Amino acid sequence: MLSRAQLAIQLSKLKVFEKADEWSEQYPTDSENAASMLWNAYMLGDIENKIVADLGAGTGILGIGAILLGAKKVYFVERDEKAIKVLKENLDLLNCSNYQIIHSDVSEFNKKVDTVLMNPPFGTREKHADKTFLNKAFSIADLVHSFHLATSVDFLRKFSLDHHKIITHSWNFELQLKQTQKHHKRKVHRTNVIVVRTAQQTT
Ligand code: SAH
Repeated sequence: MLSRAQLAIQLSKLKVFEKADEWSEQYPTDSENAASMLWNAYMLGDIENKIVADLGAGTGILGIGAILLGAKKVYFVERDEKAIKVLKENLDLLNCSNYQIIHSDVSEFNKKVDTVLMNPPFGTREKHADKTFLNKAFSIADLVHSFHLATSVDFLRKFSLDHHKIITHSWNFELQLKQTQKHHKRKVHRTNVIVVRTAQQTT
């Protein structure tokens, strides 16, 4: 099995969006942060031999990482055709198998899975885009690992409880977004985010 460092190296080989679509908040997760997020999930037993869905898969870094860490099967759900083109190249590049690409809106995906991994739109552009993703994730999986703005932790706690989920772990990250989008003034734009792991409430 891969080490965390080897995982990060493999993920650093992946291609990202050719031209990011601002309205869909297409921000690729960088390989270091993706490797950390995936490693945390892996160490908790949420990836190996599990059926995983990567919602808003983009160019696929999260789901591909899950395949490299021994997921039984990964569903890549993405609505943007151009992202899927790059996703396919990335899957071939790292010789991935045991996956299915679903070209649709996440709201139309209804397969039950063990674990959802996602870096959804934060809802800064398309209002409540993050809620659509969370609703879907909660309805198809007991375990969810997802990126959110650090400032939305109170919302996340309440939203999770309303859906009979509890946050079992959270990790702070700083996403370093390259200037792929016009509204970014600085070359590298840093945003404080958290990854939360939510699980089904048992009582
Ligand atoms: N998971 C990738 C991409 C994150 S960007 C990564 O971590 O690098 C968010 C992705 O969600 C974009 O590719 C965007 O096209 C996709 N997306 C946004 N809204 C969507 C929706 N409603 N249904 C499916 N995909 C969506």
